Amino acid sequence: MGSHLCDRLLKNGADVLCVDNFYSGTRDNIIHLIGSPHFELVRHDITFPLYVEVDEIYNLACPASPIHYQWDPVQTTKTSVHGAINMLGLAKRTKAKIFQASTSEVYGDPEVHPQEESYWGRVNPIGIRSCYDEGKRCAETLFFDYHRQHNLEIKVARIFNTFGPRMHPNDGRVVSNFIVQALQGKNITIYGDGSQTRSFCYVDDLIEGFVRLMASKNDVTGPINLGNPDEFTIKQLGEIVIQMVGGKSKLVFETLPQDDPKQRKPDISLAKTTLDWEPQIKLKDGLEKTIEHFRKIVLK
Ligand code: UDP
Ligand code: UDP
Repeated sequence: MGSHLCDRLLKNGADVLCVDNFYSGTRDNIIHLIGSPHFELVRHDITFPLYVEVDEIYNLACPASPIHYQWDPVQTTKTSVHGAINMLGLAKRTKAKIFQASTSEVYGDPEVHPQEESYWGRVNPIGIRSCYDEGKRCAETLFFDYHRQHNLEIKVARIFNTFGPRMHPNDGRVVSNFIVQALQGKNITIYGDGSQTRSFCYVDDLIEGFVRLMASKNDVTGPINLGNPDEFTIKQLGEIVIQMVGGKSKLVFETLPQDDPKQRKPDISLAKTTLDWEPQIKLKDGLEKTIEHFRKIVLK
């Protein structure tokens, strides 16, 4: 997402300072921007303080794929919590507007469907997903306390499952896994019986939502859901990917990970009314562009 956001901000005429520790991303995603006079890259981990001059901050830091964020769970919580404190401190000193990439994971395994922003969520505080979920929940708390206590202008987006080109082939998330497996003629690994649902948003739609939220009036703080409300079962997604990629892959069923949410779909009424935003790109069109990306890197 970060590299797509950099592209978009540069296109809008901004000067971009991109801060990354490359924990889960790769430099290849921004290599085309290096050399642009309006783009600067800093290798830095935001769990440490950062003193720079900026007027808008987008905080997207944190591995978001379960396999990545569970690799070093303590670091995951630190990235969300210490990272948020440092970025909020930076926003306070520079009087910058600050955007937080929060997540649908704050709703946990929800008993309300679709999820609207007023729902407080059902999150296990001690499970294997908690480092991510509770880290992101605490970051929201910090954003709202800096807003109330220090008058910071905050913009909190709750992002639902998103996909698109530049995902890492070993990212571990469902869309990239299925496409890579299909391209390699391997079996498609469905965790559980595949009846769990997700709603997938194409990255360009999401970035449009980010930019609109950042440009919204002062009193728009969020949290605001950003995602695509078209809901699919994981089994359906597997079938669609096989059909689009072709080949001989079959669906195989593996163990469902602990605390895996059974259903997820955003209620985006608030984004529609406040930002005049809704996704434009259908799942199949987004998958086509994503398959094209993976074809280039997986089959070379
Ligand atoms: N901070 C930062 N960059 C800045 C300003 C602050 O990284 O430009 C960090 C700083 O290290 C501090 C944190 O942000 O630990 C929170 O800052 P704040 O001013 O809210 O807290 P304080 O410094 O008063 O503890
Ligand atoms: N999943 C799957 N096979 C995979 C990867 C994921 O069936 O190879 C399932 C996973 O158990 C979850 C859903 O797909 O129910 C979405 O998983 P992902 O890791 O992409 O994101 P999540 O929404 O769980 O954070």
